[in-house]
Amino acid sequence: MSELKNTDIYEINYCAECGSDEIEKKKIDGRERSICQNCGRVYYRNPIPSVVGISIINEEILLVKRGVEPDIGSWCLPGGFMELGETTEEAVIRELYEEIGLKVKPGGIVTIDTTIGGFYGDVVVIAYGIDLESKDFIAGDDALEVRYFPYAKMPELTFYSHKLIIDRAFDKLKTKIN
Ligand SMILES: [Zn+2]
Repeated sequence: MSELKNTDIYEINYCAECGSDEIEKKKIDGRERSICQNCGRVYYRNPIPSVVGISIINEEILLVKRGVEPDIGSWCLPGGFMELGETTEEAVIRELYEEIGLKVKPGGIVTIDTTIGGFYGDVVVIAYGIDLESKDFIAGDDALEVRYFPYAKMPELTFYSHKLIIDRAFDKLKTKIN
């Protein structure tokens, strides 16, 4: 097996199970993991799944101006992290409603990208094509502005993965609404 980077963005100092601070690192299943010496809980760490919505109309892509860190005021695809108890489609619908104030219909998956060791650690980004019920979008709680940009005139994007996803989307997907 190839050597894998430790991309943990925080250390485990206390056991969430029993409260003990006797946390040690041991190699389990080929990787160094934190294990509680008191109760034996092993802390498996996994990437965070997230979703973004891709809407391309007349060769223009829908972007939101960020109202939250990192990089408030920069632009990115609308989306966010999945919550427990929801499917990826439900996450797209919820996140888009929060950011652009519209109910969207998720279509097919356009692409999936993985960011390793970014601001949030390791993140899997699942990009859905989306249909908007109208163009009456409004910037929601986490967004300052929402608008379409021609591919050639896109602003600097917060996440490099979003640039890759948009590049692939323009190759693969055209979403039309009337
Ligand atoms: Zn414990």
